[in-house]
Amino acid sequence: ANPVVAIVGRPNVGKSTLFNRIVGERLAIVEDVPGVTRDRLYSKAEWLGKSFYLIDTGGIAFDDHDALIDSIRHQAELAIDEADVIIFVVDGTVGITEEDQSVARMLFRSKKPIVLAVNKIDNTKRLHDIYEFYSLGVGEPYPVSGAHATGIGDLLDEVIKHF
Ligand code: GDP
Ligand code: MG
Repeated sequence: ANPVVAIVGRPNVGKSTLFNRIVGERLAIVEDVPGVTRDRLYSKAEWLGKSFYLIDTGGIAFDDHDALIDSIRHQAELAIDEADVIIFVVDGTVGITEEDQSVARMLFRSKKPIVLAVNKIDNTKRLHDIYEFYSLGVGEPYPVSGAHATGIGDLLDEVIKHF
């Protein structure tokens, strides 16, 4: 069976944008409104001749902060159950949020391999923004830009090491 890679993170960090980049098609809906990915999306993908299934986790938008956290946690739990490797996406332009910390704790406890993607690093001037994410305690932060399709090769090199 092909390994399963899940993309996890709070709404609006760019999970669906990254999913589309990796699968090479615009299957996931990218929206400015947080939480627009209502159902989880699966697609087959490949990197350096290695095939895997990629999951884009979503979540429904909530006004209520606690409900939002619950929804993110639920999606993360599903992903943890199914995934062999988890791509944990955070937003390099925002920095670490309470939701990021909540997801990080769950992922850390799961003991699944985690690859940390700091998204929205759209140019080299932003590279210094990745270092604070070491404090999430889930390993080395990989700078990526889903919008500009940069850093994704290095990220996937790290992902497939865990297969
Ligand atoms: P999701 O909720 O985590 O699936 O995030 P989306 O992929 O829907 O993206 C949320 C917003 O972030 C959209 O407005 C995207 O255009 C924007 N976005 C995604 N990736 C990048 C990126 O690399 N750089 C910038 N500047 N914006 C991005
Ligand atoms: Mg999405």
